Amino acid sequence: MQQMSKISQKSSTMLLPSSKHILAILILVTIFTTSVHACGPGRGIGGPRKNRKLTPLVFKQHVPNMSENTLGASGLNEGRINRDDAKFKDLVPNYNRDIIFKDEEGTGADRVMTQRCKDKLNTLAVSVMNQWPGIRLRVTESWDEDKSHRNESLHYEGRAVDITTSDRDRTKYGMLARLAVEAGFDWVYYESRAHIHCSVKSDSTQTNHMSGCFTGESTVSTSTGERKTMSQLQVGDEVLSMTADGNTVYSEVILFLDRDIERIQEFVKIQTDGGAILKVTPQHLVMVWNPTKKLMKFVFADQIEEGDYVLVNRFGTLEPQKVVHLSAILGKGVVAPLTREGTIIVDSVAASCYAVIDSQMMAHWTFAPYRLLATMHHWFGETNSVQNGVHWYARALFSIKDTVLPSSWMYH
Ligand SMILES: [Zn+2]
Repeated sequence: MQQMSKISQKSSTMLLPSSKHILAILILVTIFTTSVHACGPGRGIGGPRKNRKLTPLVFKQHVPNMSENTLGASGLNEGRINRDDAKFKDLVPNYNRDIIFKDEEGTGADRVMTQRCKDKLNTLAVSVMNQWPGIRLRVTESWDEDKSHRNESLHYEGRAVDITTSDRDRTKYGMLARLAVEAGFDWVYYESRAHIHCSVKSDSTQTNHMSGCFTGESTVSTSTGERKTMSQLQVGDEVLSMTADGNTVYSEVILFLDRDIERIQEFVKIQTDGGAILKVTPQHLVMVWNPTKKLMKFVFADQIEEGDYVLVNRFGTLEPQKVVHLSAILGKGVVAPLTREGTIIVDSVAASCYAVIDSQMMAHWTFAPYRLLATMHHWFGETNSVQNGVHWYARALFSIKDTVLPSSWMYH
């Protein structure tokens, strides 16, 4: 009890900034709102970047430099889609007149693709015309129902296209591949001398821009000594979290940025040499320790590499443990609690409560007005009901879209 009051006291001091601070915070909220998604994908924001020298890809190069079916690229296979499958209706035809479709099958299959693939292809079509006046983008292969690709191919899911330029001038293909990267394809491969292969993440990972963060069965320690699963956690619970200087502290859950205990989603599973296992959505920020620089840094879960150190709770102290295995899994339930500290220790591993923006501090500031509000609710004894879906405050922040944000701050 004593500890609890100490914590709330500490939080209240933090929450009574000068009017100048409030103004600064409000400005920040206005400027940075698109950046604070609970766990949204954030990829694909920004489109082609300007003022950058474009380097053509070389034969057999792919961008990003990881294999196609990893979370940092186009993601897991979700299974072949056939014409009579229910999922087939999620695919869309592309009738863009600026694109030439080879359609060698004569079935129109080359026009069929996922929405994300269509969006990126249409962006690329414009870049191609700008790059080479008079030349158009040409698609030689898209959705494939004839099993002409390798077993795992994303062509079967309508998530991959093979492209050339309309003049079939092979000297252009390296640059064509670069333009495809700039257009926002999630994986681009100079696969053959005769074409460039491009693929995208599945629409199911893209449509929910406010998707959650931890799995429903992930656990946290509460101040009452109880271990709770994410699905059991409630607003007002005090959970183990981490202070800015790397110590552990119990911090109150003030809201759920997102909560849907039925949703199935892709998670990154991070295993340490000490046996800790953390499952978070790929865009979630996790604390990483740099032993040489003696620095802590928040890193996106899918950018963590084997050999990195994450901070693991051992009897109240956070110690660095080496990441020995990373994998992609499907998990049930997405829960994103926000604590006053803005951090949370989940399954013993220190993580942020935020995602998408590459700055823990910026994300934390954006929620300052809400923390103040939560304190007031506390004073007036507002009761909590079980939440399903994205919190109204988070939703209000997400809904302000047209803000100019340096693309380097965004997750992409
Ligand atoms: Zn291909």
